[in-house]
Amino acid sequence: MKVNVIPALLGFVCLAFVGTGIAARQATPRQLPPPVPAGTAPKPDPTKPYVYRKISDRFYVIAEIHQPYPVDEVNNPPHTQQMGLIIGTKRAAIIDTGLGLADLRKYVAQFTDLPVIALSTHGHLDHVGANQLFDEAYVGKEDEQTALSSNRAGRLRGYSGFMEGNTAMIEAATKSMVDDKPIKYNFVKDGDKIDLGGIEIEVIGFPGHTPGSVAYVERQHKVAFTGDSMLFRVLLSNREKLAQWTESVKNFAAKTKDITTIVNGHQWEPFHQSDIAEELALSDAIMQRKITGASKVILNSPRMIYTLGSKRIGLSDDK
Ligand SMILES: [Zn+2]
Repeated sequence: MKVNVIPALLGFVCLAFVGTGIAARQATPRQLPPPVPAGTAPKPDPTKPYVYRKISDRFYVIAEIHQPYPVDEVNNPPHTQQMGLIIGTKRAAIIDTGLGLADLRKYVAQFTDLPVIALSTHGHLDHVGANQLFDEAYVGKEDEQTALSSNRAGRLRGYSGFMEGNTAMIEAATKSMVDDKPIKYNFVKDGDKIDLGGIEIEVIGFPGHTPGSVAYVERQHKVAFTGDSMLFRVLLSNREKLAQWTESVKNFAAKTKDITTIVNGHQWEPFHQSDIAEELALSDAIMQRKITGASKVILNSPRMIYTLGSKRIGLSDDK
């Protein structure tokens, strides 16, 4: 009997050990760099193109860090390119990929070994810059051409604009910015559900900032990603787009009453439900012509900027 029991016990101990190892590996895939401590804002550092905050073992917010932009704008928070990394059991998704300041695919490999798909909130070059590094890429169909027209020279120009004369950071970006690669887009639309294995991302259409803008919602963690569609300063073409965007905000609000964290495209601190109401109040004040705007050049284009509380909306063509 003894002869049989000991190998059986040994086998059990070995299995238990292996089992613990697997569980540990799933919970903490690798030794990660330290996250940005809660309550602090990351600072631009040419040696660290990416920083992150942890929401759970399966959910991270990653950001390229810039500087307050434009530097002369009052109460402007540090400018970031915010991304979400959501890890399922079958695959992972990265929501937006910034300007492609460095090898984001390699950075993400610290968090997961799974295939990673890139989901874009819209086609602007500061949101799709590293899409070409991932296994698949998705964008709203109406934004396909905008996304395809993104290239390294444009992304570098965009970065230099955001950094406004910060030569150390611009020089670092000139070396580290990822190259272009041919890319074929798949499309997302309102109502789509993207299954990552045990975790699901919903798509909410959000036309306004661009025709193909969407928001992504993950209800387990109560988090939404809105790209530039909800932001401290929303840029829109004209009053027609303002009306369209306002309907999108109302639709988003109705579908996200359970959401507590709204990660926008360029701000480290997330929005909450109260920010949705502030965006709508500003939109209403502009449409009812209750407030006047101030003309300002942003991203090389003159815009009429309207401000209410901490929110701003910029119209390119304000008639
Ligand atoms: Zn944009």
